Parts: sequence; structure tokens; C-alpha cells
Amino acid sequence: MPAFLAIDLGATNMRAAVVEGPKVLARVSTPTRAWEGPSAVVRRMVDLTRDLALSHPVPVAALGIAAPGPLDPVRGLIFKAPNMPDFKEEPVAEVLSEALGLRTFLINDADAAALAEHRYGAGRRRRHMLYLTISTGIGGGIVVHGQLVRPDIGMAGEVGHIVVDVNGDRCGCGRQGCLEAMASGRAIAQRARSLIDNGVPTLLAQMEAEQGTHVSAETVVAAAQQGDAIAIGILNRAAFYLGVGLVSLLHVLNPDVVVLGGGVMAAGDLILEPARAEIHRRALHERYAHIPIERAKLGDDAGLIGAGLWAGRCLSKGAKKLAAE
Ligand SMILES: [Zn+2]
Repeated sequence: MPAFLAIDLGATNMRAAVVEGPKVLARVSTPTRAWEGPSAVVRRMVDLTRDLALSHPVPVAALGIAAPGPLDPVRGLIFKAPNMPDFKEEPVAEVLSEALGLRTFLINDADAAALAEHRYGAGRRRRHMLYLTISTGIGGGIVVHGQLVRPDIGMAGEVGHIVVDVNGDRCGCGRQGCLEAMASGRAIAQRARSLIDNGVPTLLAQMEAEQGTHVSAETVVAAAQQGDAIAIGILNRAAFYLGVGLVSLLHVLNPDVVVLGGGVMAAGDLILEPARAEIHRRALHERYAHIPIERAKLGDDAGLIGAGLWAGRCLSKGAKKLAAE
């Protein structure tokens, strides 16, 4: 199995790795510093990857880059990215390819994670998989017959912006009641913030004071695990909307499995059980309610592993053909 270089470009940190199938052989990371602008970010990607290649000199077949969309994998452009507002049709793949002398392929980060989970993680041996990553925001990827659905512009699988409450909270995208506005890590933290500010008695206020940082989804999960009723209520509310969103997606896609990744899923059954209950309540047919909903298995490495997988598939089939499938 050939090795690949892989980059996972995040809003806070960028990571680079040498990957071989599901194995990460070596890894490095550095802050993204998106505010310095696209050319500085791209230069940092080049430096990071070059340093990695020098310190871990194994033959690699190509470079795969997982990045926030929307983007164009065929032309290797990042159009724009949340928290990286200055990106405008950045020819990231071309710049990296020329600098490193290596064929380079670009893919949406949620699609990359979906590919990895489908090939090596919780979606193994399933033909059709719906993948959601629930962290600060909510992203997704859809695998049908083992292939990603419309990776060409990274604009399919935007499951975070399906509307689950027409009167719901305002989303980062500017619209109202998106799944991301109701069930993401940011939504969970905002809900906790408003309850604390309203003086609701909860362990969260105490934890926030002790940690000296603003309450986060992680704090809510930790408090819920200690039995705090308010924190459990916040997770129940997020899980309710997750269930509402998922049941619609199940009706549309009828996948063999749903895989949920991202930091919020550290909550495990505290989110999964109430979400499943909501799906049971709303499913059109019991068949939908029995579709397995599983936690992702590859953790933070899914993007890197998926970027390597994508590069391998593009090498053998061509990005254009893959994207059009
Ligand atoms: Zn939205």
C-alpha cells in the first residue's frame, strides 16, 4: 500500500501527516493564523509539509488536502471558508503541487472524514453511509455505493444547514433554525451561557468559575456526566433537534448506517439515546428507526486518513472523473 502526504486544514490549526491506509506514520501541526491571509496560510502549508517530508523521508505517491468548503476538487481551488474569510478561489492544490513536486488533490474536510470512516471506520462494509461531524459546527458527507455524493464542489452533504425549527435560533450562516444552530457545539455552549446568565442553578456556573474560561460544549458534557440536570437538559435539547434532522435525512437517503463524529459525540449515549428516541417517534416506518446510528471510530485522524484516501483514488481514476460520479 503506498504512503501519502495529507494535510487537514482547520480554522485554528493545520495538521500534516504521512498516512498509509488507516495508519498515521508521522504527524506535525501548526497554528493556521487565518487572519494573516491566504498566501501566508498556503506558505505555512508548504513549509509544514516540506518539514514533515524531510523528517520522515519515505516515498509518497501524492498529497491529499482536506479543507473546509466550498471548494473545487477538480481545479484544486478553495472558494472561501468559514473563519478564513479572505480565501477567494485560492489555487491551493497547484501551489502545493509546484512547491513540493508532488501531485496534489483537494477535498472537503467532512467528505474526507466520511471517506475514511466508510473505508476504515464505523462505516466499513456498508454500501450507503450518512456521516455527520458535530463539533463547533455541523458538517456531513454522503456515501452511496461506496462513492461520495457530489464531492465536485463540496456543496452536497451540507446537513448542518437543513432547517429543523423554522422559529429556531439564528445560525452562523445567517438563516434561522438550521440543525447547526440547534445542535452543534456552538449551540450547546450558547444555550449553557444563557442559562448561566439567567441564574439557573447548575454545576456549569461553578465549573466555569473554576476553569476561568467560558463555558463550552465540553463543559456541558462533563457536567452532564456528573449528573447535572441542567447540562443533561441542554444535551437532550440538542439531541432532540439532531433526531429531528436525522429522521428527515433517513427518509430521504435510507442509508445502511449513520456515523456521527466530531467533539460533541464525546457525550456518547447522553446524545445518542435521546436522538434515537426522537427518530423512533418520528420515523415513517420502523425500518428507518432500525438504521444503526454509530459513533465514528477514527477520531481526529479521519480528515488526514480521508485526504490520503482521496489522493489515492484521484491518482488511479482522476479527480475529474471521481468528482463527476
Ligand atoms: Zn445555517
